[in-house]
Amino acid sequence: MHGLSQFSSTRRSFLGRLGAYGIAPFLGGSRIFASPADPSHPSAQVPSAPRRDAPRSAVKNRAPLASSAFYLLPLGSIRPRGWLAEQLHVQATGLGGHLDETWADVGPNSGWLGGSGESWERGPYFLDGLIPLAYLLDDDALKAKAQKFIDWTLDHQAANGMIGPSSNNDWWPRIVMLKALTQYHDATADARVIPVMDKYFRYQLGELPTRPLRDWGRFRWQDELLSVLWLYNRTGSAYLLDLARLLKMQGYDWQAQYADFKYTQRITSEYIKLEGGGGLKDLALATHGVNNGQAVKAGPVWSMVSGLPQDRSAALTMIAELNKYHGLPNGMFSCDEHLAGLDPSQGSELCTVVEYMFSLEHALAISGDASLGDRLEQLAFNALPGAFTDDMWAHQYNQEPNQVECSLHRKPWTTDGPESNLYGLEPNFGCCTANFHQGWPKFTASLFMLSGARENDAQDGLVAAAYAPCEVTTMIRGTAVRVVEETNYPFHGSVRFIVSPASPLSFPMQFRVPAWAAGASILVNGEALPAPQPGSFARVERTWRAGDRIEITFSMSPRISRWFNNSIAIERGPLVFSYGVGENWVKLRTRGMTADWQVFPSTPWNYSLKVDPKAPAQSIVVTETGIGDGAFTSRHAPVRLTVKARQLDQWRAEDGAADPVPPSPVTSEEAEETITLIPYAAAKLRITAFPQCKS
Ligand SMILES: [Zn+2]
Repeated sequence: MHGLSQFSSTRRSFLGRLGAYGIAPFLGGSRIFASPADPSHPSAQVPSAPRRDAPRSAVKNRAPLASSAFYLLPLGSIRPRGWLAEQLHVQATGLGGHLDETWADVGPNSGWLGGSGESWERGPYFLDGLIPLAYLLDDDALKAKAQKFIDWTLDHQAANGMIGPSSNNDWWPRIVMLKALTQYHDATADARVIPVMDKYFRYQLGELPTRPLRDWGRFRWQDELLSVLWLYNRTGSAYLLDLARLLKMQGYDWQAQYADFKYTQRITSEYIKLEGGGGLKDLALATHGVNNGQAVKAGPVWSMVSGLPQDRSAALTMIAELNKYHGLPNGMFSCDEHLAGLDPSQGSELCTVVEYMFSLEHALAISGDASLGDRLEQLAFNALPGAFTDDMWAHQYNQEPNQVECSLHRKPWTTDGPESNLYGLEPNFGCCTANFHQGWPKFTASLFMLSGARENDAQDGLVAAAYAPCEVTTMIRGTAVRVVEETNYPFHGSVRFIVSPASPLSFPMQFRVPAWAAGASILVNGEALPAPQPGSFARVERTWRAGDRIEITFSMSPRISRWFNNSIAIERGPLVFSYGVGENWVKLRTRGMTADWQVFPSTPWNYSLKVDPKAPAQSIVVTETGIGDGAFTSRHAPVRLTVKARQLDQWRAEDGAADPVPPSPVTSEEAEETITLIPYAAAKLRITAFPQCKS
């Protein structure tokens, strides 16, 4: 545990490697582009909105809304540190900070800037991640990029209240823009936001009876409900609750789908009748991965209006069904891009990863269920970084737990095209290119939440909902409180918090104890507390004084989990480990400032593992090192596992995809080897679900 000094030294070396932040990095390819810090860069000329520096509390639910277990803090309350800060800088110096310079769909001719270009979801998608990235990093150049879209949207509202490009009147892209506007207001308090949203919602309430939600908007209504309730909590205008009920009434009934879940098999294009034309039908939309990822929050978000416990807990039912029929060892459900069954050679779309994370962040806040935090960490630490190159200049549309080749192949996707698992600018389709940006920033903004039902509640306190290095500054019952979290989690098991209220203050702190964390310990100023219960929040209530310390140690013993065909995956803490197949990267084509890549295997991959499932720790050797540049890269993997393995001759690949993992246990006559496993995300070609070798 090194805290500040560790961060500043890695940050320094990181800057040194890039030749100062913003100067064209040479990371995996030659790129020439303007520096965002360069005053001649056009975006640097745009004045950015003021930053809100004073600590703020969360805005809680206003009656008659049901109170939530926890509340997300305003954007900017939580700042990344350590490896997480570096990860956000990688995003900012990669495609995340430069997409508008190289991809016309969010470039100067975007319809969301008044141009004649792309005028649907891509501008709002980009903004939905760019805004939190810019404000978490306090990066003026990124803020200026976002400000252009915000200003155009706020300054070009139609007289009737409509927002956005006049070339379409689809509700769906506006749902995304509303998510961006709420974050922007939380960060800046720009006085234009609330009147624009209010006028838009009044307009929509009048329009919906004759122009109801359709297709994407109908299946994603709960994402708009979040913004409607956000405004209600700030204005108290009763019509917003009428709008909330109308959205629910017109929206797809996700809870009914999961009360009697019928989509238990791999979905095919024949089944959903895609080739019939005429746009996506209900069956296709109901089995669409991204829609299901977004829908995980539908019940909890609606429960704020209904007050019903069965709505509040509905996310658990959905996740259990998705896991049972489509679950994968990286924490995702398969969706390439429709639900695709349990085979770990199936893929998951990147949009689904980030939307599922966003759903979990809100479902966790509303319900207070610790298991949702476990799932959130699984996605954030495995599936999210796994879909990107180390420099975040290229991403995949579909990632696979057993991914032995990234090349132009049609197999095994349910409905996607041959580019789906390439690393590139917009493999298969550009939705993920625009939408991936929200993943890391919103995760950062959700690490701490506020407890307490109503304003200035005696139960106001801080909740560590997920773990990563960060600091939070907020107000608790009128007193400013700062907490610094120092950790190399998820790679190492110790987490230290230093609590600093402006003056001594009694309040509860709650710490999520993951379900896997049997044997965890909590010390407060060196004194041990009773052993915390896995799968719950450990609560510590006392009068906190500046410099108080909480030290949590999670046991990081390797565990075995069971998957398709009785295969095994090795987990440790929230990480799942993979065999990193040798990678041969071949550039397919240059794409502006980035490129599309194929990756071919240069080593065998068809290993079965020889581990004792009853005592996995005895057959797996763990080596921990410090975190260097790039926590999720193979060259600096901070944890490596070694394990005995034998090749399995009958396990082959066809058309770039590994055959289904052979049913375990298996026997092999091949020589026993010792192989090294690294975190899933570090292995861009990988085996994650292994056959178990009998002898
Ligand atoms: Zn996508």
